[in-house]
Amino acid sequence: MPIRVLSDVLVARIAAGEVVERPSAVVKELVENALDAGAHDIRIETVDGGKRLIRITDDGEGIRSEEVVRAFVHHATSKLQDIDDLQQIRTLGFRGEALASIAAVAQVACLTRHIDEKMGTLLRIDNGQILLQEPQGRPAGATMTVEHLFGRVPARLKFLKTNQTERGYIDGMVMRYALAYAHVRFTAVHDGRMSLQTMGGGEMRDVLVEVFGASVAEKMAPVDGGAGGAGIADGEEWSARGGTRVRGYAALPGTDHGNRSKIMMFVNGRPVQDTRLSFAVVQAYHTLLMVGRYPIAVVMIDVPPDQVDVNVHPAKAEVRFRDADGVFSAVQRAVRAALLAHMQPPEPPSVFRRAAEGEFAGSVTPLTDAPVAAFAPVGEGGDLPQHAWQPPLAGSETWERIGISRLGSDRPAITLPQRSDAVPARAASGLPALRIIGQLAASYIIAEGPEGLYLIDQHASHERVMYEKLLAQHELGAVQSQALLDPLPVEVPLDAAALLEERMGWLRDVGFDIDFFGGNTFLVRAVPQMMQQDDIAAALREIVSELEMGSEPLRAEIERKILRRVCKRMSIKAGRVLSFPEMQALVRDLEACDSPRTCPHGRPTMVQIGVAQLEREFGRT
Ligand code: ADP
Ligand code: MG
Repeated sequence: MPIRVLSDVLVARIAAGEVVERPSAVVKELVENALDAGAHDIRIETVDGGKRLIRITDDGEGIRSEEVVRAFVHHATSKLQDIDDLQQIRTLGFRGEALASIAAVAQVACLTRHIDEKMGTLLRIDNGQILLQEPQGRPAGATMTVEHLFGRVPARLKFLKTNQTERGYIDGMVMRYALAYAHVRFTAVHDGRMSLQTMGGGEMRDVLVEVFGASVAEKMAPVDGGAGGAGIADGEEWSARGGTRVRGYAALPGTDHGNRSKIMMFVNGRPVQDTRLSFAVVQAYHTLLMVGRYPIAVVMIDVPPDQVDVNVHPAKAEVRFRDADGVFSAVQRAVRAALLAHMQPPEPPSVFRRAAEGEFAGSVTPLTDAPVAAFAPVGEGGDLPQHAWQPPLAGSETWERIGISRLGSDRPAITLPQRSDAVPARAASGLPALRIIGQLAASYIIAEGPEGLYLIDQHASHERVMYEKLLAQHELGAVQSQALLDPLPVEVPLDAAALLEERMGWLRDVGFDIDFFGGNTFLVRAVPQMMQQDDIAAALREIVSELEMGSEPLRAEIERKILRRVCKRMSIKAGRVLSFPEMQALVRDLEACDSPRTCPHGRPTMVQIGVAQLEREFGRT
């Protein structure tokens, strides 16, 4: 083929792919434009995950009628005038690419009126071709309607995910801007159903309640710190004096997430994805979170505009700092300080308390619901307080759950799985018959067997027992569930709501019956049998983070993960005093397991000390 210069329309369509990858990218660009235009009220509507329609309505300053067409030309912007401005970007947009790119790959209608003008303008563009421009009235502001995105770019369209998944991405985007711009009122409506509404009252905490739910928001500590900018006067911006300011909220240990997606970072009001910055937040939680758990945090970093380059990525999601190390440590210190200032000193588990008080009765009192400082933090500098108390028990999961806090004492102490006829008989496990001797530290069962002494971790073994039982039921498609007397409302992070709604069928297969309730709230009607009431909300949130990490082909693996989570939640905890028959039932069930020596997560369920080893220890050999 001869070499030819491509037509403008084709060039635009190719270039558009860089800026608008999917519906959420369109939402991002249009919301940024509304914010740059000084809007206080922004409404986002979508149909079919944004594939069919995206409409953003704002009350900003609007576009002058003689400029409306120019706004849709490539590299047309009102936000940069000359090359020096690139050093001092204070707006979210500056490339003049978004409207042109969007209009190249969709049917766009722009209805806008500039605040100084009497009459507004309606402009229609169909995949790069202007169809119509006419005067039309409306209040000051702009409404951008984008229909049939990628309708003429089938290759792109094919790569979009399901409507629910795309909707989740959009909600993820909207919730970030709603958090960063708490003084702006955001409304998001999908397929006629409202998913988010913020008040625009200026308080980030109010928005946190909307996007994470009150139960998470109330466990978040305010972050306010920074570095540099010496001699800051009260109320003065750190960044104005060359400093780095770090603000936001960080969830206390115990309120966490199964992946990194709820670490939300902003630089000068711009949501960014930066592995290094989110690592700074993770670092701030050093020793405070369990392995595999990640913080929930919203961290806004303000730096002088000339200290950061936002022009490294077409979607402006990446940034470069002049002093990356300085910013990293400012973030880490500010978040760490917030956590330490708001964490309660840890309480020893109740079992030990009661033993110390001399009223050890065998039943376990509930722990307080105080935000849990589960592990004594290791201070890094002399300036940080250190908690003296160290957990006396190694190996137990989280102290917050020790003592199985909210269980009523009239409940049977443990519900061990009954053998169901539906479950096929299991092969003998190779675990010898064990004679139970007693319990150690309310966490380990001491038993004797042909090979000596066995110390059995009660939590890990119960997990194993439950897991094999649930797995067998699941393979037969017969996970038994139990209806709740009162359906339980559970809040999940807003951007996960669509995903959870889409995957409700998977959850049904593992014993959950859940209905969408509204916003980010779901109603749990039934749960796998034997699951404790007080674990449901936490278990569901963990399941959501599992779902976030997987896609359709991994269904079986994810369902197994969900089952493992459920088991972990349901299992008797360390710190629980067991009766002799309870210990016996547990060990018998463990003996019947396929893999009795490890828990479903692969950790050992037991430690064995052979007679020969004992003899060595006692110097007999
Ligand atoms: P950029 O935001 O990088 O300048 P865009 O293509 O997103 O580029 O927008 C082009 C121009 O159109 C903006 O510079 C702004 O002047 C105008 N504009 C776009 N959206 C709006 C809006 N919602 N309200 C007012 N002006 C707008
Ligand atoms: Mg823009």
